[in-house]
Amino acid sequence: MVDYSAKLDKTIMDRYMDLDTGGCVQAMYVWIDGSGEGLRAKTKTVDFEPQSPSDLPVWNYDGSSTAQSEGSNSDMYLHPVAIFKDPFRRGNNKLVMCDSYKYDQRPAETNFRKTCAEVMERAKASHPWFGIEQEYTLLCQDKHPFGWPKLGYPGPQGPYYCGVGANKVFGRDIVEAHYRACMYAGIKIAGSNAEVMPAQWEYQVGPCEGIEMGDHLWMSRFILHRVCEDFGVVASLDPKPMPGDWNGAGAHCNFSTLAMREKGGMKHILDAVEKLEKRHDDHIRAYDPNNGEDNARRLTGFHETSSIDEFSSGIANRAASIRIPRQVGDTGCGYLEDRRPSSNCDPYRVTEAIVRTTVLNDWNN
Ligand code: ADP
Ligand code: MN
Ligand code: MN
Ligand code: MN
Repeated sequence: MVDYSAKLDKTIMDRYMDLDTGGCVQAMYVWIDGSGEGLRAKTKTVDFEPQSPSDLPVWNYDGSSTAQSEGSNSDMYLHPVAIFKDPFRRGNNKLVMCDSYKYDQRPAETNFRKTCAEVMERAKASHPWFGIEQEYTLLCQDKHPFGWPKLGYPGPQGPYYCGVGANKVFGRDIVEAHYRACMYAGIKIAGSNAEVMPAQWEYQVGPCEGIEMGDHLWMSRFILHRVCEDFGVVASLDPKPMPGDWNGAGAHCNFSTLAMREKGGMKHILDAVEKLEKRHDDHIRAYDPNNGEDNARRLTGFHETSSIDEFSSGIANRAASIRIPRQVGDTGCGYLEDRRPSSNCDPYRVTEAIVRTTVLNDWNN
């Protein structure tokens, strides 16, 4: 049933990947392009093993080819901000998360990391933790969901969530490869599961403190796209890839401060929910790359979502904007889950918005 016919034979690669590199290291610089959603990458040779992003030089790229600048003044700068082991090239080679700047050193339009880092610095005494549940859908290269019959549809939703068996889940090899690759890289991947719609999957990253959430989630997405490339399959982060009676894809953001995690933390959780309610519209604008347009297809009030127009919250309520997990209700402390962020959200924007609203009590309108 699962058909890897598009898979290319890559065993021949092994002959080359073992070659000695004379002590040189490949650093693959990864950055967010002008869509605020797509990732780009290019490689630099360095003659030492970088241990931290500051060991690596600022680099540049052609912003006119990434929808980030005009051809006449196209150079953009890449600043290394986080470094991971490279699970594809292995050895001492690295994957390097970068943020991007224009020729005059202003952040690129889709560089939401800079302000996020500033906000996290200001809020660091409250130790904000995040855990994001990244949902995605595997597609064939013709955009057809992976493993779905070419004519017609699979049976209705029900047996697929956390399912097992060739008639229940499609593409597990990809999920397993991605999970291991993230672990090898040093990403704080917390788990994975098959989702409600067949060919849809989820993995979680976290808990991460502050700016680390965005860095780790973006690099986990890069690794996902790169693993899928090896399998000849595409990972879509579209929040509603199949219209109709099929679940969409989100990026639930779980959040806590130190005070919420300690005894009596429920008071602080409820206080945060109250603040989030007042800023619902601002958050919706920050929760997908198109300021709420993408999420409008997903947050319908059906398929385990809340309505995009209405804020709601509740213990164990998966049809609410904010859910307080049952266990948190029982123990009286822990975290809250913001179910609104879209699968293609920018985690720098999402985490910044949550901290501005609930911790710093400020918002630049
Ligand atoms: P769900 O029940 O909504 O499917 P998951 O188990 O998929 O939840 O994801 C829960 C996420 O919450 C994980 O990423 C985990 O790291 C994160 N998490 C757990 N505790 C906390 C906490 N105190 N603060 C923030 N995030 C947390
Ligand atoms: Mn989950
Ligand atoms: Mn899920
Ligand atoms: Mn969830």
